[in-house]
Amino acid sequence: MTPYILVVEDEDALATLVQYNLEKEGYEVAVSGDGQEALVMVDERQPDLVVLDWMLPSVSGLEVCRRLRQRTETRNLPIIMLTARVEESDRIRGLDTGADDYVVKPFSMTELTARIRAVLRRLRPGLAEDRVRCGDIVIDRVAHRVKRAGGEIHLGPTEFRLLDYLMQHPGRVFSREQLLDAVWGSDVYVEARTVDVHIGRLRKALNATDEGDPIRTVRSAGYSLDVDA
Ligand code: CA
Repeated sequence: MTPYILVVEDEDALATLVQYNLEKEGYEVAVSGDGQEALVMVDERQPDLVVLDWMLPSVSGLEVCRRLRQRTETRNLPIIMLTARVEESDRIRGLDTGADDYVVKPFSMTELTARIRAVLRRLRPGLAEDRVRCGDIVIDRVAHRVKRAGGEIHLGPTEFRLLDYLMQHPGRVFSREQLLDAVWGSDVYVEARTVDVHIGRLRKALNATDEGDPIRTVRSAGYSLDVDA
């Protein structure tokens, strides 16, 4: 199931950027530049999450948030507020706005998507866990597909499990033995060098798009998947 996200932001360029990036992540996205319109859109079709700008013409983001919280059917709708300044985020923290999280502008898309994922995982666990993203790599556990920078990556079953495991712990270095236990299982006898072979295949598949090598070899220690690769 594709999570449906409503982005409420009156700054066209930012709204377009957010929409583009969220769609690239596989979300279905609708955009509104107006609080009143956003409330109508929520009535028509309830999103799985709302990204809500604080500063909006006519009805403010804060007011939209309050109204959504007042209605029974949207009381638990996940909301992430966008705030323009640190002062606003301080106010948000102080006020009981009812938002589930907030992101301070300017923000990176990596930050926003991480927050969205975290909120969905917490509040809509059925939706979020099928897909994991790390840097420009997206793994879909249900469809058994991997994409890098939007392009399809074809992996064998072992490489898929290996990548899945590394993506659960980005930046962390694993020894060959740890990877053997995690990916092959501790009751299977496999030589440590087998890990090198599969890491090699995984690396080759991931690097087919010339995006740079996301797998770091740590001499005499093991391997890690680098977050910002
Ligand atoms: Ca705004």
